[in-house]
Amino acid sequence: MKSCDLVLVGGGIMSATLAAMIKELRPEMSIEIFEQLGSPAEESSNAWNNAGTGHAALCELNYTPQNADGSVGISRALVVNTQYDLSRQFWAYMVGKGAMDAPDTFIHDVPHISFVWGEENVAFLRKRFDAMSAHHCFAGMEYSEDHAVLSEWMPLIMEGRDPAQKIAATRMLTGTDVDYGAVTRQLLAQLQKQNDVTISYSHHVSNLTKNADGTWNVSVKDLTSGATRTLAAKTVFLGAGGGALKLLQQSGIPEGKGFGGFPVSGIFLRCENQAIVDRHHAKVYGKASVGAPPMSVPHLDSRFVDGKRSLLFGPYAGFSTKFLKHGSLGDLFGSIKSDNIGPLLAVGRDNFDLTKYLVGQVLESKESKYASLREYFPDADPKDWNFIVAGQRVQVIMPDEKAGGKLQFGTEVVSAADGSLAAVLGASPGASVAVAVMLDIFKRLYASELPQWSEKLTTMIPSYGRSLADDAALCSRVRDHVAEVLHLAKVPAKIGT
Ligand SMILES: Cc1cc2nc3c(=O)[nH]c(=O)nc-3n(C[C@H](O)[C@H](O)[C@H](O)COP(=O)(O)OP(=O)(O)OC[C@H]3O[C@@H](n4cnc5c(N)ncnc54)[C@H](O)[C@@H]3O)c2cc1C
Repeated sequence: MKSCDLVLVGGGIMSATLAAMIKELRPEMSIEIFEQLGSPAEESSNAWNNAGTGHAALCELNYTPQNADGSVGISRALVVNTQYDLSRQFWAYMVGKGAMDAPDTFIHDVPHISFVWGEENVAFLRKRFDAMSAHHCFAGMEYSEDHAVLSEWMPLIMEGRDPAQKIAATRMLTGTDVDYGAVTRQLLAQLQKQNDVTISYSHHVSNLTKNADGTWNVSVKDLTSGATRTLAAKTVFLGAGGGALKLLQQSGIPEGKGFGGFPVSGIFLRCENQAIVDRHHAKVYGKASVGAPPMSVPHLDSRFVDGKRSLLFGPYAGFSTKFLKHGSLGDLFGSIKSDNIGPLLAVGRDNFDLTKYLVGQVLESKESKYASLREYFPDADPKDWNFIVAGQRVQVIMPDEKAGGKLQFGTEVVSAADGSLAAVLGASPGASVAVAVMLDIFKRLYASELPQWSEKLTTMIPSYGRSLADDAALCSRVRDHVAEVLHLAKVPAKIGT
């Protein structure tokens, strides 16, 4: 039986990032990557299956909840903001050594704007701005309620709008749009050139069993020939997106018990009419409706994919029992096991608003979808827009002592106590924080080697081991360097209001 150091399941951004980082740290490691589709990044990591937002909590209001006393908390925003810095530092390192292509093949400056209407929301946004702009991580944030200023920031959103409407927005010029599909393909392409790395497309990982010596037997089916083989791996990484839960369950590790998944599908509206596209240069995020999952906040985004600009609006949530866009309708039912039925039922009982919201979204007519678009872009003409189906998100359901089970909207890592297997579940903030996720995984899978990697990790990620949220000078130095290498906007020295 063939054996290797590490098997990665999935050809999306998570596996690509882990494999690329580990090969820098331990070049002699033997790696096998299996992807069931014919090419890389065809599921959630594909540019058209996600929104391409470099999630840095600049415009996404769900990272800054309002506390009971009316104040706005920014601690979650700081975590996401500085986790995204880790990804950008790693990409800058890879571009610098020629292992990734020119930055404009995958990342672009796109201002991030939060936009709200109504007295209450405006008051919230002002408080959020006051709390955030006082922190060096959000230096450069601007705030305005002035229709004339906002017309400059986002002309399409202001044209046709009631001049008496009470509105406000914040803007960060250092926001980004990222083609995560391109990042994935570039990382996998450079891995393919390295010794001891094999990437097999059209190969489905069908089972995992643990051996007495702690290694894993991984069963793989070649979907072209139909042949099945088994290989032995010291360590397994399940970067299988919506397919990770099934494999985690098959692994039988006790840490995976009780986990379940709840799929939320997404639809975007896309506009490729260049006369319109050229008039919007921002990602404009609004406020979520009651019951809406945090990642279903509507936003009107400038996108850069394959050298072409377009606009994306959405996502509209939907319900499908598939766990992957190319998955099976039986995925949800197949994932229900005796150990997760309790958490699943508890989540069903406690999330009535979410259920109501999803049912509403599924039943929503095309006309009402265009009406949502017009809340952001009042003069939008349906003939300029096409519906596209986005990726599937499988929200994590996990056991909870008090409630029986809870629905988790974040990205969740589950690993075996002996460090032989790890899985990434969930979505948001997802691709943006892939490098932070991998640093967490190194602690779980390579704890004994991590101290020796620290020097190399600091070369790859200059802020490694230090906090950009606590160290303003380091933050500014690192961001200037990354902006230089990735050809991005630098944070303006003066904070605007
Ligand atoms: C609608 C939507 C919008 C999003 N917007 C953003 C955003 O703006 N910014 C952001 O940072 N993140 C966003 N995300 C999240 C982000 O896309 C994901 O977190 C990220 O792409 C997940 O990467 P992955 O590698 O884990 O999974 P994927 O890209 O889904 O890759 C998993 C791969 O595993 C393969 N696979 C599964 N099972 C098997 C098996 N048994 N054998 C072999 N191969 C298998 C699949 O075919 C797939 O190619 C969004 C997601 C969605 C769905």
